[in-house]
Amino acid sequence: MTNQMDALEVAQLQLEKAASKMNLDPNILTQLKEPERVLIVSIPVKMDNGVVKVFTGFRSQYNTARGPAKGGVRYHPDVSLDEMKALSAWMTWKCAVAGIPYGGAKGGVICNPKEMSEGELERLSRRYIYEISSIIGPKKDIPAPDVYTTPKIMGWYIDTYNKLTGEASFSTITGKPLELWGSEGRKEATARGLSYTVELAAKKLNINPLEATVVIQGYGNAGSISAKLLNEQGYKIIGVSDSKGGAYNPQGIDPSEILDYKTKTSTVKGFPKAEFISNKDLLEIECDVLVPAALEGVITEKNANNIKAKIIAEAANGPTTPGADEILYQRGVFMIPDILANAGGVTVSYFEWIQGLYGYFWDEERVNRRLKKLMVRAFNEVLKLAQREKIDNRTAAYIYAVSQVAEAMKARGIWP
Ligand code: GLU
Repeated sequence: MTNQMDALEVAQLQLEKAASKMNLDPNILTQLKEPERVLIVSIPVKMDNGVVKVFTGFRSQYNTARGPAKGGVRYHPDVSLDEMKALSAWMTWKCAVAGIPYGGAKGGVICNPKEMSEGELERLSRRYIYEISSIIGPKKDIPAPDVYTTPKIMGWYIDTYNKLTGEASFSTITGKPLELWGSEGRKEATARGLSYTVELAAKKLNINPLEATVVIQGYGNAGSISAKLLNEQGYKIIGVSDSKGGAYNPQGIDPSEILDYKTKTSTVKGFPKAEFISNKDLLEIECDVLVPAALEGVITEKNANNIKAKIIAEAANGPTTPGADEILYQRGVFMIPDILANAGGVTVSYFEWIQGLYGYFWDEERVNRRLKKLMVRAFNEVLKLAQREKIDNRTAAYIYAVSQVAEAMKARGIWP
């Protein structure tokens, strides 16, 4: 589904497009083209059969001008250094759009967690954190969940980091289980933030949620909870998919029923109350809101003309290529770009970090209220810029983000 070489190219093209529209200082642009630092590590793991396997892991810290590096860790067979660089750039822009005091980072391990036992995963996770421990910390770089990593894994991360440092503090990792002072509302945060942006976009386009339909590609944390929250707003969910295939029913699919089915069978494919649809066809279903919630590079020049959605809300990072962006913009599709649409996750990670530093914890109502405030502010800033400059929403989000980062870099200067 993805093309890893493309992710970095995509990120670089997006940056260059914004830089030329905003007349970015070329000395700043040169510094923004590559991450500040990448670490590549070998992770030996004794597998259950006694054989030692060595996995490759990464941590890319893209930019720290606005604060400590921040971003998730991905476990996936397609992880690569270039993908990490791209994803860490997107985290940098995302934190700037959200207005939270972080730079951007991303980590990953090349592995297939679906084929590993819990013990193997735990050993891999603990050794990965040990290997990157010298460059992380509450004021350096704060890892979190991403594709195929969970609160349970974050629990192993924080425990390992604590044992290494001899402390029992909590703000080096976010997305932790609640028992280890994770934040209320963190699990739902990406989807909740996304649902706020969809609400605002629908209002702008005069779409009535009670008469509108949604298609979701990817039924993991962000996808399945987006389905639930949008359904609660009144939207009818007519298609969902995961890596194995999709389910389509124009009469509507109950998001929790299909989640139960997926929990039992490990896929949404074959859900009895819907017909089968391929991932390719799913993206082209006639609907009001399309939520790509899986991996990079799924909306390209090849299928952009066939997409019938009025709004695209990117729960995934990097699902749309620059060529596709151009086509969708010309066709008047309202794009809510990833660095805005899915910023709710890292925003509540920020709340979790603050709560951990203070040792004072908020209830879910306070978390959601503050999340909404930041998401609405970010959405309005991006829209204002897009309308004023007559540019697409992604370029507007980039110009907003890159200027924040550039200003911070200028204020710092170059040391020594
Ligand atoms: N992995 C999520 C993202 O791509 C969350 C990162 C975080 O909470 O630091 O935004």
